[in-house]
Amino acid sequence: MDVYGLVGNPVGHSLSPPMHEAAYEELGIDARYVTFEPDAEDLESAIRGAAALGVRGLNVTIPFKRDVLELVEPDDLAARIGAVNTIDFAGELTGHNTDAGGALRALREGGVEPRDANAVVVGAGGAGRATAFGLADAGAEVRIANRTVDRARDLAEEVPHASGHGLDALADLLSDADVLVNATSVGMETDASPVPADALHGGLTVLDAVYRPLETRLLRDAEAAGATTVDGARMLLYQGVEAFERWTGASAPADEMDAALRARL
Ligand code: NAP
Repeated sequence: MDVYGLVGNPVGHSLSPPMHEAAYEELGIDARYVTFEPDAEDLESAIRGAAALGVRGLNVTIPFKRDVLELVEPDDLAARIGAVNTIDFAGELTGHNTDAGGALRALREGGVEPRDANAVVVGAGGAGRATAFGLADAGAEVRIANRTVDRARDLAEEVPHASGHGLDALADLLSDADVLVNATSVGMETDASPVPADALHGGLTVLDAVYRPLETRLLRDAEAAGATTVDGARMLLYQGVEAFERWTGASAPADEMDAALRARL
């Protein structure tokens, strides 16, 4: 039996185990996906131990996505984002970031052609960094808006074709934008949106990285404005699909994975 898993703290409510196990079941793969919650000071021994025990792949989540960079060989994208969410144990331990590809695939599904698109990314934390690099690599012009404006400006210096702004610039930035991604945690705890409803319009495709709740205030406002909406579960699904395909070499059964995670949202 092959073992895959998730390292983070806490990981108790993670949707990754049912999502990946639905794929193993569908494809008849003899594997389990388990969660691990090491203390921060034990992270290195946990990763080395997993390698020694023959674990095939690990996802990494808060608060370890940055720390893991030091413990594996990150690929170019993960190194630029500064975060690893997927470790491949085949041969040398390599680190990857599938949040970027997950966001892009979810947006493409929402009709976005990133090349030459005008994209607004709200947030400059982990999800914001991944989304901004993903969109820029795919040819979009990226405007990053963040509560802490210096963080947006610093990120914009690293990302090609990007600019950094405060949240007060959102209405201006969105007026001729094609794509909006909420990569902040706003909307999770309270029924709030980081974007003024009257800045939204029908020319936008709006992805909210928040997936709990699935239908956020931002997505409701976007729908009311006539925009195309993509929920955070699609991004979560496709980051999982990319990790699964990297680890197993098999084509992921995305419909079954999606059903497994939506059943729990
Ligand atoms: P993070 O690194 O902690 O970044 C949090 C971001 O939210 C920062 O930009 C922060 O701005 C902003 N923020 C927090 N509270 C705010 C507020 N009250 N008003 C305005 N901005 C606020 O977190 P993360 O890992 O990027 O995650 C962000 C969200 O994305 C979470 O909801 C997470 O669940 C989701 N996510 C989803 C997926 C998916 O697959 N769907 C993948 C990754 C993350 P400051 O810089 O000013 O603090």
